[in-house]
Amino acid sequence: GQKVVLITGCSSGIGLRIAVTLAKDEKKRYHVIATMRDLKKKDKLVEAAGDAYGKTLTLLPLDVCSDESVKQCINNVKDRHIDILINNAGVGLLGPVESISIEEMKKVFETNFFGVVRMIKEVMPDMKKRRSGHIVVMSSVMGLQGVVFNDVYTASKFAMEGFCESMAVQLMKFNIRLSMIEPGPVHTEFETKMMEDVAKMEYPGADADTVRYFKDVYLPSSIDIFEAMGQTPDDIAKCLKKVIESSSPRFRNLTNSLYTPIVALKYADETGGLSVNTFYNLLFNFGPLMHITMSILKCLTCSCLRRRTISPN
Ligand code: NAD
Repeated sequence: GQKVVLITGCSSGIGLRIAVTLAKDEKKRYHVIATMRDLKKKDKLVEAAGDAYGKTLTLLPLDVCSDESVKQCINNVKDRHIDILINNAGVGLLGPVESISIEEMKKVFETNFFGVVRMIKEVMPDMKKRRSGHIVVMSSVMGLQGVVFNDVYTASKFAMEGFCESMAVQLMKFNIRLSMIEPGPVHTEFETKMMEDVAKMEYPGADADTVRYFKDVYLPSSIDIFEAMGQTPDDIAKCLKKVIESSSPRFRNLTNSLYTPIVALKYADETGGLSVNTFYNLLFNFGPLMHITMSILKCLTCSCLRRRTISPN
């Protein structure tokens, strides 16, 4: 029969596209429960889902930051039966740490880390009883490797990678699969909006040099990377579909073969020197040559690295 798939954060971006892609599966293999904090924001999803809405796609409200909301949502699922849980909801945070309050940092962890933990705690016991299920977590290449000025976001994704890598072992004993998806840059409205906001902001508490490195050095090179390598939410949805349809899904799944060489730096030198120095040189020594560097990195994508990466096609 149909597999019940529950997805968090479906009002926009990657979550919306995953929901639509699975609901429109040509063999109708999925019943998608697309969730979002505020159902008033459903219009874009409903429009994109077209005929599937009300058939293979239904909606439920869910805020991953609230114990009560999570419990209520899962109780509203028939028999609390979820075959595939897709933890997609997440928030970004960019900028010098000097100007970010601990409260703001905690909010990022509350969504990106505790939000996922909360969902898994609620859904896992039923999966354990049934000895089946698949939990998918939208991580990031920033769950594997630090990125300058994304310090807190990166830390929240690392936290989740550690949590899940630990959980995967006991879940295997219960025949429950756990998979991380690790996209590189993805074009969503979120990215454009964040970049615009960030450029306008003042950054009190940070010294002038730090603010300059952030705004005039990091931001332009980050935009270059998005332009050179950015994937679409549709690419990520296709990769995720491959992961859930695989007979033996892997634990880690990179999605962007152009970005994979950057991640590979970490594994090529376990001391961490190679990645830290390469990021330093990319940022502070190459400047306008960023795009050339990116082309070289593209050429470095040898076949052995590609094997680590799921392709959307
Ligand atoms: P997005 O902002 O469009 O989507 C995030 C969604 O999560 C939004 O719909 C938002 O409303 C929702 N959300 C936030 N807090 C929530 C909460 N408390 N409860 C329920 N929903 C909540 O951005 P996106 O790029 O589609 O991000 C989706 C996931 O992909 C995130 O986990 C993000 O970290 C990850 N990711 C994004 C990129 C990228 O470059 N865009 C790269 C790698 C990983």
